[in-house]
Amino acid sequence: MKKVEELINELSKCYDGEKGSLDFETPFELLVAVMLSAQCTDARVNIVTKDLFKVANTPEQFANMKISDIEKLVSSISFYKNKSKHIKEASQQIIEKYGGEVPTEMEDLVTLAGVGRKTANVVMLEAFNKCEGIAVDTHALRLSQRFGLSKEDDPSKVEQDLLKKIPKKYWPLMNHLFVYHGRAICSAQNPKCDECTVKKYCKYVSKPHEKGA
Ligand code: SF4
Repeated sequence: MKKVEELINELSKCYDGEKGSLDFETPFELLVAVMLSAQCTDARVNIVTKDLFKVANTPEQFANMKISDIEKLVSSISFYKNKSKHIKEASQQIIEKYGGEVPTEMEDLVTLAGVGRKTANVVMLEAFNKCEGIAVDTHALRLSQRFGLSKEDDPSKVEQDLLKKIPKKYWPLMNHLFVYHGRAICSAQNPKCDECTVKKYCKYVSKPHEKGA
């Protein structure tokens, strides 16, 4: 436990773990942005949503759009067809089941089309200031393995390992620190281990052939 806290403190010196990097004004805008961000960079999503939200930024507006019109607005995003379909379906669900407001409970959020625990964790934390867990994206998954915090490959199992090993007071920070370190230094293929300030906590650096490579 002490080592995990040291690792988190070291990472906190390098990154502002208090906030995420998606631009939004309302919980619904954040929901849409997080849905678009799967397997896409936040920078690209911010470019797209800047124009997208001028055309539509409420559940009613998206529910009334044709999927093909949503697709045109987000076509530079990976998997845009599926994501457009999910945004329209989730908008309809929000209107029909939740009175037009993004639900504020985890168990309701994950019932929306295209919304898994990762997306719901981000929305809970950043829109409603409620930290229910740790969002495990590709960066968090890879770094969890490299720091020996999980041997799992399934994001929800990795999250359960993290929640057991990381004290709850650090969960909000941990929604961002692994992501930022993964983007800046610890990439999947060419991690910059020479520049890494937390290499003494890393199991991968001495055994790159093992899980997490
Ligand atoms: S030492 Fe290398 S592999 Fe380990 S966390 Fe740092 S950058 Fe990543």
